[in-house]
Amino acid sequence: MGLFSRDKPKIKIQTTKKDGFSGWLKCTHCNELIHTRELEQNQNCCPKCEYHYRLSVDERIAALSDPGTFEPLFNEIQPIDPLNFVDTEPYPKRVQQALEKSSNNEAVVVGTCTLEQQRIALGVMDFNFMGGSMGSVVGERLTRLIELALKDRLPLIIVSTSGGARMQESILSLMQMAKTSAALAKLHEENIPYISVLTNPTTGGVTASFASLGDIIIAEPNALICFAGPRVIEQTIGRQLPPGAQKSEFLLKHGMIDCIVHRHLLRKKLIEFLYFLSGNV
Ligand SMILES: [Zn+2]
Repeated sequence: MGLFSRDKPKIKIQTTKKDGFSGWLKCTHCNELIHTRELEQNQNCCPKCEYHYRLSVDERIAALSDPGTFEPLFNEIQPIDPLNFVDTEPYPKRVQQALEKSSNNEAVVVGTCTLEQQRIALGVMDFNFMGGSMGSVVGERLTRLIELALKDRLPLIIVSTSGGARMQESILSLMQMAKTSAALAKLHEENIPYISVLTNPTTGGVTASFASLGDIIIAEPNALICFAGPRVIEQTIGRQLPPGAQKSEFLLKHGMIDCIVHRHLLRKKLIEFLYFLSGNV
């Protein structure tokens, strides 16, 4: 073998698993090679460029609550198919497929936990469940969580990610925007803090309702946050959007959100903000 061999990989890749997956991935953002272990240890942020990859609901809850304190609520609320909706497939079949794909039984998990010993109400959306779409279950679970926060005077944190309203539920899914917003208005009247955390992507009816109603609105870096996506807008107005439009950094510049917080600092910032909003300055 000569000094320069094409057969010799530049980076030695250890194959340990049966399927031949070595654990090395190419970051879609910076194209650098990264190892899954490094990625996991870095809360799913690229160790080279800090691009924020998606966190699962469990990982998110673990990051934002004291260990073992999260108690899920309203899990029994399940989707029904009142419109007998069929697109390319019947709605119940799509729900069934989502159940198989996700470890959760709807696109949001809600419950209570403590964060630095303070009891809070926490809702975390799941993009793996039908694109985090908001149907009546998402709206109802969140509304009940807000009502619980109101009754027990608990600060509320909702971590959003969503493709928008769930089209299979038509008007019933759109109604959830008004319902969650009305519940949050009551929370606001009672001066109970609500912090909204926007993660990549947060779009459609979720952006247009509870996700934008936080007393403080935090976004993760480089997250797509919008109502209609860039392609739809460009088709409608017949013009190109400015570069970076609808990303966290653009929204911060234009006053739509309050701050951008790196995932590593999110827990610490939430504790600080809750402390501040509770009148403990
Ligand atoms: Zn990267």
